[in-house]
Amino acid sequence: MPNIEILLPKLQTNSFAYSLPQNIQANKGDFVQVTFRKQEFVGIVWQEYSEYLDQEKIKPVLKRYDLPPLKKELMEFVDWVAEYTMNAPGSILKMVIPIQSVFKEKSLSKFIPIEPASIVPASSINLSEEQQVAVNKLKEPLDNKDHKVLVLEGVTGSGKTEVYFELIEQVLKEKSGQVLILLPEISLTSQLIQRITKRFGIEPARWHSDLTDKEKRNTWLNIAYGGARLIVGARSALFLPYSDLRLIIIDEEHDSSFKQEEGVTYQARDMAVVRAYIEKIPIILSSATPSLETIYNVNKKKYELVTLASRFGEATLPTSVIVDMKGDNARKKKFISAELVDELKDVLEQGKQAILFLNRRGYAPLTLCGECGYRFACPNCSTWLVEHRSLSCHQCHQCGYSVNFKSKCPTCHKENSFVPCGPGVERIEEEVKYTFPDARTILMTRDTVNSIQAVENIINQILDGKVDIIIGTQMIAKGHHFPKITLVGIIDADLGLLGGDLRAAERTYQLLSQVSGRAGREKDKGKVVIQTFNPENPIIQSLVTGERRSFLEQEIMGRKMVHMPPFGKLASIVISGFNDEKVAEFARFLVKISPVSNTISVLGPVPALISRIKNKFRYRILVKAERNISIQKYINYWLDGVKAPGSIKLKVDIDPYNFF
Ligand SMILES: [Zn+2]
Ligand SMILES: [Zn+2]
Repeated sequence: MPNIEILLPKLQTNSFAYSLPQNIQANKGDFVQVTFRKQEFVGIVWQEYSEYLDQEKIKPVLKRYDLPPLKKELMEFVDWVAEYTMNAPGSILKMVIPIQSVFKEKSLSKFIPIEPASIVPASSINLSEEQQVAVNKLKEPLDNKDHKVLVLEGVTGSGKTEVYFELIEQVLKEKSGQVLILLPEISLTSQLIQRITKRFGIEPARWHSDLTDKEKRNTWLNIAYGGARLIVGARSALFLPYSDLRLIIIDEEHDSSFKQEEGVTYQARDMAVVRAYIEKIPIILSSATPSLETIYNVNKKKYELVTLASRFGEATLPTSVIVDMKGDNARKKKFISAELVDELKDVLEQGKQAILFLNRRGYAPLTLCGECGYRFACPNCSTWLVEHRSLSCHQCHQCGYSVNFKSKCPTCHKENSFVPCGPGVERIEEEVKYTFPDARTILMTRDTVNSIQAVENIINQILDGKVDIIIGTQMIAKGHHFPKITLVGIIDADLGLLGGDLRAAERTYQLLSQVSGRAGREKDKGKVVIQTFNPENPIIQSLVTGERRSFLEQEIMGRKMVHMPPFGKLASIVISGFNDEKVAEFARFLVKISPVSNTISVLGPVPALISRIKNKFRYRILVKAERNISIQKYINYWLDGVKAPGSIKLKVDIDPYNFF
């Protein structure tokens, strides 16, 4: 019996040798059943030949499944991502085959795949001249079946979606072929799906964590057989076994939610570019505020830029004003400035809608005792507890620990001595209700809106005009199209700037311009009020002038000077464990044994920004390399044979986004 290599969808595993009995025919990419540690698994024939010799120990393949084999492009992609993110290929295959229940004999025999068929659009719209020019440019690589990375940059409300719908139409009109649209957050799916249904007369396939096992199974199979032609999904949809992928669209490409932080850490946008390259298909990165990395690649002529400079139809861009929160406004001890209150009055009188944006959940980020100074802190993390009045508790946003409200201070035992410090969205809502008792308000945060259904309900309430003032976190900043919103008030524009990491300024700029873009998306002119303590800050200034390019050029210069991405490469190594001293000692030991290099520097260790989470102490080492150096090879060489003692964990994150 010949030996073959089988890869199992199992965390941190490489392929294993199995023997292929004569009565089973299986080629590279085929789905087969094997036993592994006495459990049955479905795996993929990764190599048709294995050098492993010990016939005594080797187990036979049990059967082959009658399923379309994994394409060689996808197998190549799995290997590529594994190497790049420094994970074993089994961890990546787990994302390709996320559900084992697909292969239950009963469900497989009952499943009838949808036949791929051409789809005729249900409606069309008249594109503006600018949009038509963009469509023509974007269509080129699709016509030529070429790989190309196209950046679709359009101001908010310019109709980017309509432009990429034209390309989707071109694929769907054919008899087969698939289009994947990746979204940064599943809360954005419902509005897009409504638009797709209206435009193409079909419901696209969905892929995200909210689906039931059965939905996942059917969608997975229809993707593998090619019957699912248009797929809308969160980042994990990138790894599915498309039978005939023709086009990938990354919506809101700048969004840092594309970075997966748990388990295998990867940047879905960047990995999508790689998949498109391997599949030899075009990919569109769409955004009103493309990321600095993307602009860099445009400047380097690696990506091609297509721009939409004006808003669609009668809409014009909103005007922005800065309100200085120092001086008079500070003395009034209100979170909403007099200027913003006046604007809100106008909105209410005219029967329009307003958004108040503050990227902070809960009522107050910190509560202390006015008598003795006691502060609510998390016992498991180095964080303060956030006061949530709606939930009557103080909660840790890192580990979820919470304590119910108390009326008595646990230290000095004084009654009702607690003072909330600073605002969260709940506190803004309280102030709105106090100032405008008749206004209808709604809170949009992860705490109040935690399912796709809940998002849909809120969106419909807003669209039906049942709400006057929407108060929310970044959840309201993204993608939504609400025609009646004419005012956006940014409560604390400085908040995101405090993050202090590489992308803090860029991210703040993107978030604030996204939320500003919610104003005046149709006939009525929009207005944006930006409250800040730093009116001179260049980011705040460029938001008002709309001179994004000059802000970006400054950022690019800044990163170039310190050799930070995209000018250099970065990896972060986080070492964590329960014993602070031992973790620190191991971290220092690692740095001490790091190989000396002219092109790579190892920085740290330093306690991570949040130095303790869930009782684990955390230290961070940063590895910085020149752009053309393989940072992975260096780390592999360095950590080869190093064993972390006991319960200490070591995690490598290539291209880190999160510096907590
Ligand atoms: Zn006290
Ligand atoms: Zn905690």
